[in-house]
Amino acid sequence: MRYVSEFRNPDLARRLIGQIKEECGSRTYRLMEICGGHTHAFYRFGLVDLLYPSIELVHGPGCPVCVLPTKRLDQAIAYALNPKVLLATYGDMMRVPGSRQTLVEVAAQGADVQMVYSPLDALALAQHGPEKIVIFFAIGFETTAPATAVTLLEAKRKGLKNFLVFCNHVRLIPAIIFILDTGKTAIDGFIGPGHVSTIIGAKAWRPVVDQYGKGVVISGFEPLDLLQSVWMLVRQIKQRKPQVEVQYRRSVRQEGNPIALGLMEQTFDIRETFEWRGLGWIPKSGFEIRDELALWDAERMVPYEVTEGREPRGCICGDVLRGVRKPWDCPLFGKTCTPQRPIGACMVSSEGACAAVYLHGRHSHRVRLGLQEKVPPETLTHR
Ligand code: SF4
Repeated sequence: MRYVSEFRNPDLARRLIGQIKEECGSRTYRLMEICGGHTHAFYRFGLVDLLYPSIELVHGPGCPVCVLPTKRLDQAIAYALNPKVLLATYGDMMRVPGSRQTLVEVAAQGADVQMVYSPLDALALAQHGPEKIVIFFAIGFETTAPATAVTLLEAKRKGLKNFLVFCNHVRLIPAIIFILDTGKTAIDGFIGPGHVSTIIGAKAWRPVVDQYGKGVVISGFEPLDLLQSVWMLVRQIKQRKPQVEVQYRRSVRQEGNPIALGLMEQTFDIRETFEWRGLGWIPKSGFEIRDELALWDAERMVPYEVTEGREPRGCICGDVLRGVRKPWDCPLFGKTCTPQRPIGACMVSSEGACAAVYLHGRHSHRVRLGLQEKVPPETLTHR
């Protein structure tokens, strides 16, 4: 396959793994792969085992479905239960458990819930079905926020009166800084997310280097991308020269995507604070719809107070998202919680760490070793 197989060359992969192990020597480096897409690729291509024990991966909060707190999902479910509303959202959200139900379950009971591939699909539903109020349940990092921005501007241009957005877009870098500030997760460096960085630009990661002295290598998603990124990051750490490097140069620029950033600026303000599953309230970590577009903001037009927000009993998604525990530390992992019958968000989403380990890594040496070791989180300290 052109432009893919080049990045899966086994000989080059073997050479890179050899170079990484040589660089690491007898030391283990703990690297946080922030993005859920990277987590899946590391497990899917067997890189976790091949790099062990030189590299230990710490999974980060880069799965947008996983980091949404249950309360916000409960609010979306409450919207969906309103007979005048059609709730539209991405497929990943449909099976995530709320406090009592999932969106799929309320749809089975008669609520109007539709899966869409893009917010513009939701806008089309509003145009073609004026008898319902269409609420688009918007989630995601800076990667998907520009598409929501375009849709909001389009709704305003068309003067649509039956289209609203329930905005849950979040900003990734404040969450990483929050994790570093809490100091509970030992991390030597970061494998930066390729897609988010395509929008925000490499230079947005400077605070991680300047204020915390941690290196960042922004990576692509194929095996050779990831191995090269690991090698670049280990070299930075060894040489004690942290910096922001871009391995994924075929997509990421220093300044990001100015058109997407401009659209987001026209459309969103930054919230004072926003709640993340497992991390709690993080300052400046969420987007809200600007006052000029208040007529299309579901939170202002259909206010709804949700008080519950119960997390599934026994689920440790929050610890997994902070990188303090591994999916296999969860007593429910692979027993009562599987991708077919997920209990927590990290097992539902195609980017969730629990799903990645279950689908691609549960028979690996590293995971089996972890299943035996069960390292208590309090033994992890900040280096
Ligand atoms: Fe939650 Fe399931 Fe992961 Fe356990 S295995 S942390 S219950 S998603």
